Amino acid sequence: MADRVLMSPPDVGQVEEEYVLQAMRSGWVAPTGPDVTAFENEIADRVGVGHAVALSSGTAALHLGMLGLGVGPGDVVIVPTMTFVASANAVTYTGARPCFVDVSPDDGNMDPQVLRDAISYVQAEGHHVAAVMSVDIFGVCANNTAIAKVCADAGVPLIEDAAEALGATDETGQAAGSFGRVAALSFNGNKIMTTSGGGMLVSNDKELADHARFLSTQAREPVLHYEHKHIGYNYRMSNILAALGRGQLSRLDSMIARRREIREIYHSLFDPLPGIRLFGAEQEQTANCWLSSVVVDREVAGFSASELGEFLNGRNIECRPLWKPMHLQPTFADSLRYVTGAAQGLFESGLTLPSGSAHDDAVINGVTETIREFMAAGA
Ligand SMILES: *Cc1c(COP(=O)(O)O)cnc(C)c1O
Repeated sequence: MADRVLMSPPDVGQVEEEYVLQAMRSGWVAPTGPDVTAFENEIADRVGVGHAVALSSGTAALHLGMLGLGVGPGDVVIVPTMTFVASANAVTYTGARPCFVDVSPDDGNMDPQVLRDAISYVQAEGHHVAAVMSVDIFGVCANNTAIAKVCADAGVPLIEDAAEALGATDETGQAAGSFGRVAALSFNGNKIMTTSGGGMLVSNDKELADHARFLSTQAREPVLHYEHKHIGYNYRMSNILAALGRGQLSRLDSMIARRREIREIYHSLFDPLPGIRLFGAEQEQTANCWLSSVVVDREVAGFSASELGEFLNGRNIECRPLWKPMHLQPTFADSLRYVTGAAQGLFESGLTLPSGSAHDDAVINGVTETIREFMAAGA
């Protein structure tokens, strides 16, 4: 294989070209226009919520979502420790601090019971818990109904970081992005669908969504001259990228189906092997299968996840450990935490494999052949 096989490269083609070309020819080459509005409506329908605000990134959606919940300086926001750094960074933008809680070793999502204990712990330490952030990790919905119940009992609002999970549902069919008071989606280049870079805030709360839209366009008061009563941001999505997103959204179901097929190929390879399991397998029928990862029990398997990872990367096949826990990141060395070691265990034993819908069978078979070669060499 000459070219490097990436984990999740963008999957764009003629459909997207036509949408983008149409948008450029329409003259709406700005962070406003008919494709932005249409994209918002289409995503709101897909997620099953009333309102959507198209933004320049998922991180911006998390930031504005927390501002909408009233999170501010001195507050604490509870965040699962196994996530991408954007979840935690967005907390700090508001002036609040994250408290990192551990996750379930089964699927890497927040455990409602651990969350309940963590809220009591943080409150007993004298802090104000202003919000809980749930993250639907690798496209598997967290147990958000139970998490929302814990939040309601504690009187704390829930924000759902569904950046990785567009198109996934829980076991009742409720869509990722619809569980909290507000949620964030990401359309970064490596996500399940992309606008090259972009995100969306979704919510059933009209006031919250309208205020987020206002803040995302520099908080311009509705008068002819430039009048400002609030600090705003330049977070709006470009109309050209919204058009790209509409093209992607029209293909979302087929892209998810392709990721599921790739996952099946990995199942055939790994299911017969002792000491190695596909991560999040229990919920994969309702997940969007964004990334397929394995968790390796070194004692049983006879090799470690990092040995397999080094071998594959040496053969130009991109693979990475699962998210390094936030409480182990140097930048969050002094953070509040409520951890059991589960996320650290997953970080040390997990490996994410090429999963992108742009990969055809020949590419994925090349990956599985290389994995077989690695195991034959070890035996
Ligand atoms: C990708 C991602 C984000 C950030 O999205 P951007 O669009 O890249 O800003 C936030 N949270 C999680 C869990 C992510 O995976």
